[in-house]
Amino acid sequence: MATKIVYRCKNTGGPDGDCEHAASNETLEASAVTFNESGQAICPGETVFGEPCGAILEEVIPPKKLPLGIIAGSVAGLIVVACVVWFFFLGGDAQLRIEQTSITLAPGQSVKVEIFNDGNASLKLDDVTFSDNEFSVDKTEDSLEIAPGKSGFLRIKFAQKAQNNIQGKMTIDSNSSNGPVSIELEGNANPWTVAEKLNSTSTILDKE
Ligand SMILES: [Zn+2]
Repeated sequence: MATKIVYRCKNTGGPDGDCEHAASNETLEASAVTFNESGQAICPGETVFGEPCGAILEEVIPPKKLPLGIIAGSVAGLIVVACVVWFFFLGGDAQLRIEQTSITLAPGQSVKVEIFNDGNASLKLDDVTFSDNEFSVDKTEDSLEIAPGKSGFLRIKFAQKAQNNIQGKMTIDSNSSNGPVSIELEGNANPWTVAEKLNSTSTILDKE
């Protein structure tokens, strides 16, 4: 805050006579005065007898700028406080994360997908969409909401009657700051291929 302080000389009526600056009751800019070792402003003026004044000056905060400065400062301070409060208690971002990058499903199989919220605001899931309608959300919890630092589950399913292998994608829309999040889905109608995948990675079994 640049509330500019000016200075006024009060050296009147002393034995050395009035200071020119005191007599005219003018104010002096900080740049016009010198400061002693204690940081006090010293009058650069002369008395009526031509002697250096040298009086310690009175600090004057220009009266018209004072209320505005205080108000502006207070408002700015309040805004900062409000932003901090908002950020920690009400605001911030939700951040959706899924550890799995792809999921393989056999016909009729359903798998839990764990959804993490790494943000500091509540994560609200909107829409879960699939690139192929052989995939679906098996069990829908209404408006799945995940608290900061917590996780929740979606259960997704590959259709029982699926005949073909399908490479697909699931996309979750939410209020996450990183936007829609997608993972690969592989619907595998050939059970032998699925068995091989299950043997090679146990993540699906672990999640179940
Ligand atoms: Zn003076």
